[in-house]
Formats: sequence, C-alpha cells, structure tokens
Amino acid sequence: MSEIDIHRRGLMLVLSSPSGAGKTTLSRRLLESDGEITMSVSATTRKPRPGEQDGKDYHFLTTEDFGVMRNKGEFLEHAKVFDNYYGTPKGPVEEALSAGRDVMFDIDWQGTQQLEESASNDLVKVFILPPSGHELEKRLNTRAQDPPDVVAGRMAKASDEISHYAEYDYIIVNDDVEKALKELTAILVAERVRRERRVGLRTFVQQLQQAL
Ligand code: 5GP
Repeated sequence: MSEIDIHRRGLMLVLSSPSGAGKTTLSRRLLESDGEITMSVSATTRKPRPGEQDGKDYHFLTTEDFGVMRNKGEFLEHAKVFDNYYGTPKGPVEEALSAGRDVMFDIDWQGTQQLEESASNDLVKVFILPPSGHELEKRLNTRAQDPPDVVAGRMAKASDEISHYAEYDYIIVNDDVEKALKELTAILVAERVRRERRVGLRTFVQQLQQAL
C-alpha cells in the first residue's frame, strides 16, 4: 500500500439503463470488489419485491411520507418512474462525498438530469445497454418477479430510456458481466485521479517543490 494520501472529494457514479440490462448485478459486483464506494439507498413509493429489504434496497415509503420529504427539500433529485415516485435522500450523499467516499446511484435519466444541474462536477454518468432487444426481453421474463403486464410495460419503456444514452459520459454494452465490470472499474479508477477531485493536490505539490 502506498503511504501517499492526497485528499480527494468523492464522486457520484450514476448508473442508468433500461430495466433488465444487468445494472443491479453490475452494481452489486462493484460494491463487493471496491471498498471505497457505497450505494445510495433511494426512497420509493413502490411496493417491495420478494426479498427486498427496507433500508437496504430502498426506503419504502407511503406516497404521503414521500411528499413530506420532497416538500422539506430532503431529496437531491426525485422523479416519477412507472407510476411510482423515487428519490435520492440528500444527507448520506453529502456526508460521503466530503469524507472522500464515492457514492453509486441506480437512477433513471430524469434523476440524472437533475443531478447534472446541481452537482455536475461530482458526477460520472454511465449508461448500460443490453446487447439486444431479444436478450432484454429474456432477462425481464426470467427475472420473474414482476407480473407479465409489468414486464410488457418495461419493454415499452426501454426504448424511451435508451433514447437518453447520449446524455451520459460512458456507455457499457453488457453482453458479458465480467467484461462490463472491468470497464466499469476502469472508469472508476480513472475518474478518481482526475485533478479537480484531488483537493489535497496543491499542498502535496507545494511540499514536493519545497523538497526540490
Ligand atoms: P425498480 O423499481 O426496478 O427498482 O426501479 C425502476 C427505475 O427507477 C430504474 O430505472 C431505477 O434506475 C429508477 N430509480 C430508482 N431509484 C431512483 C431514484 O432515487 N431516483 C430516480 N430518478 N430514479 C430511480
């Protein structure tokens, strides 16, 4: 391990994709392999799916409680997606970033646009594409947690979500999860050493120059 520790501000890694492109698997794998990034836990008014835990996968809220948080300005961004409300609580994100920890977000294009307006310097935007329409449909069906009408709705929405790909910095085509994970890791490693994020650089360089 290197002794050199140049303080940096954390970054916000946004992952967007149509449902079924493999974003959940990818983000889970990245969390397992990287100790410096945490997942932002969104609030939602959608009902929990089997196996989902309150406070871990989402903060599951009533529409009323969601509205109270929104009116108090407690969300960094919020949007309506598939008839439900979703939002990113502000507090934990701001805390992590100033402590130099990175935060990953699984949010849609609407939320990404809002973050772009309020936090563009901290933002790294990654869009995940499925390898084909057929594969996307297959993944949505085998996931089997949603009823068929919901799957059909998500297929219809996929094209809409995909139409926003050009608003993102990086595009990963997820036909092989190991390859996709490698690409995502490479993005993270490179973005971490960006000059603008390394707020301790000035002091480090001054010390370096003094020693010359
Ligand atoms: P799901 O209900 O399948 O977990 O998520 C549905 C969609 O909502 C996904 O595209 C996901 O990225 C998006 N989403 C989840 N949390 C948030 C959030 O906090 N804000 C926004 N804007 N979108 C979210």
